[in-house]
Amino acid sequence: MTVVESTQIAFVDLDRQHQAVAVELNDAFRRVVDNGSFTLGTEVDAFESEFAAYVGCSHAIGVGSGTDALHFALRACGVGEGGEVITAVNTFAATAEAIVMCGARPVFVDIDESTYLMDLDAVEAAVTDKTRAIIPVHLYGQCVDMGLVIKIARRHGLKVVEDACQAHGASRGGVNAGVAGDAGCFSFYPSKNLGALGDGGMVTTNDAAIDARVRSLRNHGEDSRRLHVEVGYCSRLHGLQAALLRAKLPMLTAWNASRREAAALYRAELADSPVVLPAEAPDAHHVYHLFVVRADERDTLRSRLADRGVQTGIHYAVPLHLEPAFADLGYGHGDFPVAERVVRSIVSLPMFPYLDPDEVRHVARSIREAGHD
Ligand SMILES: *Cc1c(COP(=O)(O)O)cnc(C)c1O
Repeated sequence: MTVVESTQIAFVDLDRQHQAVAVELNDAFRRVVDNGSFTLGTEVDAFESEFAAYVGCSHAIGVGSGTDALHFALRACGVGEGGEVITAVNTFAATAEAIVMCGARPVFVDIDESTYLMDLDAVEAAVTDKTRAIIPVHLYGQCVDMGLVIKIARRHGLKVVEDACQAHGASRGGVNAGVAGDAGCFSFYPSKNLGALGDGGMVTTNDAAIDARVRSLRNHGEDSRRLHVEVGYCSRLHGLQAALLRAKLPMLTAWNASRREAAALYRAELADSPVVLPAEAPDAHHVYHLFVVRADERDTLRSRLADRGVQTGIHYAVPLHLEPAFADLGYGHGDFPVAERVVRSIVSLPMFPYLDPDEVRHVARSIREAGHD
């Protein structure tokens, strides 16, 4: 096998998955045009049932985005003005935005240096009499230990809203992402493990009251009697996106398996390299939304990989307590030393279903050679 000088390896290539379900996507489009259920309606109902069955919960509610899923789930859990919600400092901004959208205050905690998941001792230490909920973030496709999170929540009377936006199909100790907490929140942003051809999101729950409240919030505060009982939002999952997602959902298990195969090959190929490989908790079924390694000379490595046609990313370059949007929370440098140290060395390697083994080998060889330039 020869990889020519002009090799280009995308960070994410959605084209390959779309080719694999091209017929189904076209059928889905035609179906929606023909049946005319554009916002909510038959396709959304069907996708909600199918997604609930996939996750293993009794209710699933389609919304406009993962951010809105978090926002509505928190509100349905009673989070509002004056409350505090504890979450990881190294997540996508949306997790904290959703808390602020409720009028509540994000309280950040540091992370575990090996898994990059929220430090659960720090969660317990951050509880105050204003704490209303915890948002464990199943970062990069690996679940937080929900058994421990639920114990902490019960001890302090808190709600648990899972940010499963990177963890469709992940599980830990046999428990699927999105079922252990009071609610689970998923994003269908195109590059997620299950992605729409646009924006979308889902709340999962076993709680009928949370189900009803989220259904109302997504649709202008309308209840089952069609009365507007509160000022809600216009954040309905589109029928077209639901139909396209229905075409992709049957492939999700195979696509996650493909990601795990690429991850295993990265591990084998990089075993003797200086980069730090991601840690998998022994009871975790990791679905590798991202494959994140650590390197001392991270920025040099990235530019050498770019020279060899390998696209990379950083997730996330700035921990939320140092982002301008959250400056008024009053945090500063040094507050979360582990996260601050980790973000300086992380780099996300190409990872998506149908990433070719030869491409993984090319990335790994490029990393090994980058040290010798
Ligand atoms: C993608 C993502 C979100 C938000 O999803 P959107 O659909 O973009 O609103 C929230 N949390 C995490 C961890 C994410 O990765």
